[in-house]
Amino acid sequence: MNKTIQSSLQNLGDHSAIESLHQVAGGDINEAFYVSTRENSYFIKTNEDIPTHFFEVEAKGLELIRNTNTIRVPYVYYFDRPENGASGAIIMEWISSSPQSDTAERLGRKLAKMHQFENDRYGLEDDTFVGTLAQPNGLFEDWIVYYQTKRLLPQFELANRQGVMNHERRNKMEQLISQLEKWIPKRPGASLLHGDLWGGNWMAGPDGEPCLIDPSVVYGDRSFELAFTELFGGFPKQFYEAYNDMHSLPSNYRDTKEIYQLFYLLVHLNLFGESYGRAVDRILASYIG
Ligand code: ADP
Repeated sequence: MNKTIQSSLQNLGDHSAIESLHQVAGGDINEAFYVSTRENSYFIKTNEDIPTHFFEVEAKGLELIRNTNTIRVPYVYYFDRPENGASGAIIMEWISSSPQSDTAERLGRKLAKMHQFENDRYGLEDDTFVGTLAQPNGLFEDWIVYYQTKRLLPQFELANRQGVMNHERRNKMEQLISQLEKWIPKRPGASLLHGDLWGGNWMAGPDGEPCLIDPSVVYGDRSFELAFTELFGGFPKQFYEAYNDMHSLPSNYRDTKEIYQLFYLLVHLNLFGESYGRAVDRILASYIG
C-alpha cells in the first residue's frame, strides 16, 4: 500500500519525504490513510478492487459541490485508476476534525443553501455510484421519470437478480413503481444533492466548520436528501431546525419521505441482504397495503 501512496504522491508532484502515515478508520469501501510529507498533509484513499473511474466520479462530485460556494468539501489534489492489478488512489486535503456545539446547526444552514442551487433538469449527465453499486444517470425533464427509471427500477431489477425479492415484495414493488405520480412531484426544484448523506458522510472541519465527504451527486428533489438523513437516525435536531429556518421543508415532505427512503433501503438490501427486507416491506405496506 505504501507503494501506491508513494507513487501517487510522486504523480501529484510531492517528492518530499513521508514523515507520518497511518490508517484512518470509518470508510465503508476503501482503505483510507492520513499521510504527511515535508510539504503537506493528505487524506488518501486506495482500492484495487473498484471500477476504473470510481475516484474520478468522487472527485467530480466534490467539485460540483465546491462550485456552489455553499459548503466546504475537501480539495482533491489527485486521482487515478486501478490498473494492471495496482490500486487506484485519490489524494485530497486533510481535514483536521474539530467539532463544535454549533456544527450540526451550521450544516443545516449550509445544506439548505446548497439545495437552493438548482439545475434545469433532473439527474446527472454522467453515471455515478451509490456505495459500490453502479448508479445509472441521465438528464430528465420529469423527476418522476428519473426516480422511476434510474433509481427504483435498477435496484428492483438487481434485487430480483440477486434473489432478495420474494413474490409479495415483487408484486408490491411493481405496483408502487407504476404509480409514483400519486406520491412524488413531477417538477420539484432540481436541487444539487450530496446524494449519499448519512451520518458518516459529513464531518466537522477546523473551527467546527461542517464539511461534506464522499458524495454521489444528483440534481433532484431535496426531500430525497432529507429523507435519507432521517433513515438511520444520524442527524441532530439542530440540523433540521437550522435547515428549516433557512429553507422550509417542502409541504409534501412527510408524504414523500418513505418513498425516497425506499431507494436507499433497496440499495442496502442489495448490498447487505435480507436484514433490510423488513424495512422495505413496512414501507411497501404503508403505500400499497
Ligand atoms: P469510504 O469511501 O471508504 O467510505 P470515506 O470517504 O467515507 O471512505 O472516509 C472514511 C473516513 O475518513 C470518514 O468517515 C472520515 O472520518 C475520514 N475522512 C474522510 N475524508 C477526510 C479528509 N479529507 N480529511 C480527514 N479525514 C477524512
